[in-house]
Amino acid sequence: MTLTVIRLQSVGKTYPGAQGAVALSNVSFEIRQGDFISITGPSGSGKSSLLNVLGLLDQKDRGTYFVRDVSVDGLSPRTLDTLRSRTFGFVFQASHAIGGRTVGKNVELPLVITGVRRSKRFRLVRDALESVGILHKANDDAALLSGGERQRMAIARALVHSPDILLLDEPTGNLDSENTARVIALLHQLNSRGITIVVVTHDPILAAATSRQLVLRDGVVRETTAQAPDAREKALPEFDPDIPRNRRRPFARSLDAFSDALYGITEKPVRTALLMLVVMLGAGGLVAAQGISQSAANQISGLLTTAALDEIYATTSGGNRQFTDADVSTALHLDGVVLGGTATDLGNGDARVSRLGPLAQEGDRFTGFVSGSDTGALKAAGVIIDSSNALSLFNSPVAERVALLGSRAADQLGLTGSFTDGQVWISGHPFAVVGLITSADRNPRLLDSVVISNSAISSRLGLSKPSTLFLKTEPGMSHAVGAALPFALDSVNPDRVKLQATADIGSVRAGVNTQLNGLILVMALVLLGLAVLATAAVMASAVLTRHAEIGLRRAIGSSRTAVGRLFVIEGIILGSAGGFAGSAAGVVIALVACISQGWTPSLSLLSALSGIVVGMGVGAIATIAPAILATRVQPAVALRS
Ligand code: ADP
Ligand code: MG
Repeated sequence: MTLTVIRLQSVGKTYPGAQGAVALSNVSFEIRQGDFISITGPSGSGKSSLLNVLGLLDQKDRGTYFVRDVSVDGLSPRTLDTLRSRTFGFVFQASHAIGGRTVGKNVELPLVITGVRRSKRFRLVRDALESVGILHKANDDAALLSGGERQRMAIARALVHSPDILLLDEPTGNLDSENTARVIALLHQLNSRGITIVVVTHDPILAAATSRQLVLRDGVVRETTAQAPDAREKALPEFDPDIPRNRRRPFARSLDAFSDALYGITEKPVRTALLMLVVMLGAGGLVAAQGISQSAANQISGLLTTAALDEIYATTSGGNRQFTDADVSTALHLDGVVLGGTATDLGNGDARVSRLGPLAQEGDRFTGFVSGSDTGALKAAGVIIDSSNALSLFNSPVAERVALLGSRAADQLGLTGSFTDGQVWISGHPFAVVGLITSADRNPRLLDSVVISNSAISSRLGLSKPSTLFLKTEPGMSHAVGAALPFALDSVNPDRVKLQATADIGSVRAGVNTQLNGLILVMALVLLGLAVLATAAVMASAVLTRHAEIGLRRAIGSSRTAVGRLFVIEGIILGSAGGFAGSAAGVVIALVACISQGWTPSLSLLSALSGIVVGMGVGAIATIAPAILATRVQPAVALRS
């Protein structure tokens, strides 16, 4: 049992650096329970340094320092944090209002940090505000208080958790005489209620109002009190850091930490919006890319599957052998074959197309294709033709003189509207245009082609080109037909019939999926990397602008971990919100993209939810470095600014 709360013996402190400033050289004094002490001295004499050492915000280099008979040497940082928050309440010259909060919430913060129950907090905050006379301001924005009111709020905040000692560093430095008088009266009143007060001041009136006066000069403290007053009767219990003063369930503590972080986020709406936007871009891009690629892969996969299951192409190897009508007839008689025919593709230089006349050369530059086909091959290609009798003309005695135009080929040639009297010239030979191919599902190349009969290619253009046998089978029969076809066509040398095998298409499909997924993965990683970097940069700058707040939090009991955690929680909240918004935007973007492409959207709930998780992850990872930065902040240094 002791009445001495603080005991310093030969304490010294030298700041490192070029000047090696000696702030304290040999300081010894005691503080007893109920003391009202002023510390004066010239500017730069080390008053703030002494107060910081007293309040455990900074460390001495030499001597011994006891707080309630406990030597501070060798205490862990954690124990020091606890000891500080239970023993001291701090008021600084520039009383930092923690922004975005009401006066009540500012005063409540030390109770939140030390884990006092919500129900108890309300009463304590009210009492503290009442004792400094600003209860009526409880719900006002702290940033809007006058200088005197703000200083009283700071005193309430320093008192609210019932510390043993109130430490004030030039509390009236920024105040006019009227407000100074009020603060002096308030300190008197608090001291008469038994609160121990140590106040650093320039103000002789304030110094004269205290019961003990210390003067700091040349790094040494001298007491100038006329007569030491009697120490009070009440003794303090011994300090034991292992006995928690406030027991609070982890869940309730997390909830407090969460709402504390929410205040931090809402304080700077523009910065918050910026951060959310960055995360939104990352997560949204990911969700959109995922949705679009999945839909595209499904689309391609669907096309390929259909094609692979009921289509088959055959070519011949060796020379310019063409499939004959007899070959086609043989193929059509195979089990499972529905339709079929032959087609001949010309090379780019094989024929010149013009609609102007036999000799036209310069004006027309047709870049489409010329192909030969019979009715069966056209049907197997799934063509839709605007004129109903065009296909039958292809099968008639005039077949060699007619042509069909793919819709894009017609555009290129400037032939639109009615074709009844249309005509094109191919290598100087006139062909009557009898129809427009508006769609060709199985062979979209036909849309860019001028299609004439196979026989016209040999008889009128005089060209001999290899042909392709194009068969449409019953669904799923392509493989079986493909196995039988070479033997049916050439039983002696079946190898000469080359099939576009189903297996090939299957591997193409697998390849397409892999390629798409790989592309998306790379895009997603780049987007996420950028989001993490941008978020980290903004968060780091936020930490820098919140130095004073971090110092204050440390002064009122936050551990380094708690400060770091605060930023990570802010990051996670921001990230989740950004991820949520990004997911929504990504889904919309993917939907719009698919609809505009005419694809069936393939969006999974899982991929939409993944955006939220990804945003949360971005927020958490991006705040690791800034949070470490925040834990490194030295409270004594931060509070000087
Ligand atoms: P006072 O509060 O009496 O004006 P301070 O305690 O603030 O004096 O400063 C005492 C001396 O220590 C001054 O010369 C000041 O420049 C120096 N000082 C204070 N803080 C630091 C620091 N973090 N690093 C180096 N020198 C410092
Ligand atoms: Mg100072």
